[in-house]
Amino acid sequence: MAQKTKVKRAELHAHLGSAVNPAVLWTIAHRQGIKLPTKDYWEFENMITLRPGKRNKNLTEMHNKFFYWTELIQSSPEAIEQSVHSVLCGGYRKCNLVLQELRFNPMFRNRNGEKDLDHIIMAAIWGMERAKLEFTQIKAGLILIMDRNLSFRQNEIILEKAIKYRRAGIVGIDLAGPENKSFNIKKYKPLFDMAKEAGLGITIHTGEVGTLEELRFVVQEIKPHRIGHGVLCVKDKKIMETIVKNNITLEICPSSNIYNSVVKNSGELRKILKTLLKNKIKFTINTDGSEMYDTSIYEEQEFLVKNRILSRREINISTRWAFDASFVK
Ligand SMILES: [Zn+2]
Repeated sequence: MAQKTKVKRAELHAHLGSAVNPAVLWTIAHRQGIKLPTKDYWEFENMITLRPGKRNKNLTEMHNKFFYWTELIQSSPEAIEQSVHSVLCGGYRKCNLVLQELRFNPMFRNRNGEKDLDHIIMAAIWGMERAKLEFTQIKAGLILIMDRNLSFRQNEIILEKAIKYRRAGIVGIDLAGPENKSFNIKKYKPLFDMAKEAGLGITIHTGEVGTLEELRFVVQEIKPHRIGHGVLCVKDKKIMETIVKNNITLEICPSSNIYNSVVKNSGELRKILKTLLKNKIKFTINTDGSEMYDTSIYEEQEFLVKNRILSRREINISTRWAFDASFVK
């Protein structure tokens, strides 16, 4: 495969659970003796990949249907090492991604406590280091994700691990997961303060679905460096002003938003991105997980240009914002 482009690209928002090539996952699953629901590779690929015409009704469906399998397959030190390595190397070869941040929840990869979290995290770091040894052009960092559907104590442990491995390659902390009525973002402010104090980058999945209340609290009180999605901010002028004032960069994932019914279509996406530009909000273009959405950073950018959502010039500006907002220094 010839090098597609000389343009240097960055990806800041990709989940390990949605970024590994299905063929790699298939082999890892067999090597570990995991019983899959099908013996047919193509059925398996179809099971964990979204294609045009397929859509999730909401984010819960996305997590239950897709992430269940990918996270199960990645739940061992050997599996996570190979997964991280394959994503970083593949991103460089396919799209000239010279800067990559990859995120995962270690608590969803320890088979409910059967595996040791430190071993899982260290194996992920080793997978990243191996990729950097092979492709010296790559700069990379890992982000640990907390989840709305885990207990406060479990999330606190994830943060403790992120701080522990801060100098070894963990560059940030995130919060993700479908909405959960018992989850209260206000309780989490002290954890994010601790993360900031420790020098970790902070990004939070919010303003993707749900109410504006959580997004408002995040931008006004937690003040993360970045927000995963955040597209709902266009509904509230004051929130947009606070995002600019606190120098927060949004991580936009176009295909993911369409596949997960966060936006209706490319027309709605265009309106959102134009509003962000008009209000001077910085944003980056991401895949959310290139393999699950059957895309790449290159294809996301082409999609935006072809549909007149962004111009080439605006794409270049968003690329510069990505390099500026990276937690990898
Ligand atoms: Zn995401």
